[in-house]
Amino acid sequence: MSFGVVEGGPGEEFISGISGHPFGQVQFTGERFPLSQVKLLAPMLPSKVVAIGRNYAEHAAEMGNEVPEEPLIFMKPSTTVIGHREHIAYPTTLSDRVDYEGELAVVIGRLCREVPVERVKDVIFGYTCANDVTARDLQKKDVQFTRAKGFDTFCPLGPWIQTDLDAGDLALTTTVNGEIRQSGRTSQLINDIPALVAYVSAVMTLIPGDVILTGTPAGVGPLEIGDEVSVGIEGIGTLTNKVVSRD
Ligand code: MG
Repeated sequence: MSFGVVEGGPGEEFISGISGHPFGQVQFTGERFPLSQVKLLAPMLPSKVVAIGRNYAEHAAEMGNEVPEEPLIFMKPSTTVIGHREHIAYPTTLSDRVDYEGELAVVIGRLCREVPVERVKDVIFGYTCANDVTARDLQKKDVQFTRAKGFDTFCPLGPWIQTDLDAGDLALTTTVNGEIRQSGRTSQLINDIPALVAYVSAVMTLIPGDVILTGTPAGVGPLEIGDEVSVGIEGIGTLTNKVVSRD
């Protein structure tokens, strides 16, 4: 188990192994593996996942909510994180309604706090696809989001981190069993990425590998056991996970 850099053209990708972690100066080991023969894990183990609620106007409207005056933040525990092709475990005895939420995830690359908007680009390591899986019935029942958003496996991330990308206007598509359910663009974010990183880092210190989920566009809906859900973002790739019963 180690970190690596994905290289090569479409269909011929390979992974160059690196020693240690990818933050800071990367040291290649000289090992190479075809991507098709590698099991991808979540591309980072964050100390925390900070998520933003109601950051696309059409999604706030579909849930019957106003757009908040300031970014609405909540957290998902690090134990929610899984990687590409790992299974989302549906907690059938506790919830009857589990939704997908396709989102762009920002990965932090430097220890930082109180980052001014104009310096946010210096603390971003890259971007990946995320699914903010949510037990919607529990979210409506509880005042806090912790239980609804906090089940093990409820934060698929991946398939990898794209480090060289302008994330200001990317197409985001969520499909369930190949059918398009969400289609948005990151240019529709109410609070953009610099604003979000500045806002969150004014509250808490961010650590390399920490993740900020930027909110979901309209079109959220339920998952059923056996479904295959994919979140694809232009310039990054596609994150796919199957839903299984936890119980
Ligand atoms: Mg969300």
